[in-house]
Amino acid sequence: MPSGPERLRIGGLTRWTSIDFPGRLAAVVFLQGCPWRCSYCHNPELLDPAQDARVPWTEVRSFLTARRGLLDGVVFSGGEPTLQAGLSDALAEVRAMGFQTALHTGGMYPERIAALLPLLDWIGLDIKGPWERIDGITASRGSAARVQASLAHVLASGVDYECRTTWDSALFDLGELTRLAADLAQRGVRRWALQRCRPVQAGAPPPAAELRKLGTRFEHFEWRDA
Ligand code: SF4
Repeated sequence: MPSGPERLRIGGLTRWTSIDFPGRLAAVVFLQGCPWRCSYCHNPELLDPAQDARVPWTEVRSFLTARRGLLDGVVFSGGEPTLQAGLSDALAEVRAMGFQTALHTGGMYPERIAALLPLLDWIGLDIKGPWERIDGITASRGSAARVQASLAHVLASGVDYECRTTWDSALFDLGELTRLAADLAQRGVRRWALQRCRPVQAGAPPPAAELRKLGTRFEHFEWRDA
């Protein structure tokens, strides 16, 4: 039976990115499995937690050993990376190798996130929509309360972060988006990115004037129309 990071089921490895870990050149390790079922899921091949690993940790370790001094950091993404018990060992190993660490998460396991935060240099937390919409978007009852708890852990930790919301008018309307921005700002969120919902794209992006208004509530705000 493998132990530590060797037990991770890794669905893929991106060897170089400049956009997934702000300000750093990084590799991305995609972990298999997610309990949510967002209609617009960008990585459906990673949803099944029982899927065999496509990339062994030993391969990731060898790759990172050869990239010391060339990459700044390593991002763990998914799927939902906090689903897997080997994640904390992997983060500790990557840090011991001299890399900075980042996590992309939907925030569904607040206690695990609280335990992982001391091992992280940056966290990207999805806020999938207005709180009353999140259970529907994720097709999972109780999701919203879990994300609220995760957000509170992230904000209290002092770890650098970004909250991210995927938006299309087919998911929820501009008025709801505006109210979400106010709610997040009131909770203390200072960094928020809005990203276009690629698989839906039913409507236009928010008007430029609305984007400017949304951005006034945050120290850092970005619209990603990718
Ligand atoms: S949380 Fe992410 S990986 Fe999971 S279903 Fe939603 S979009 Fe897909």
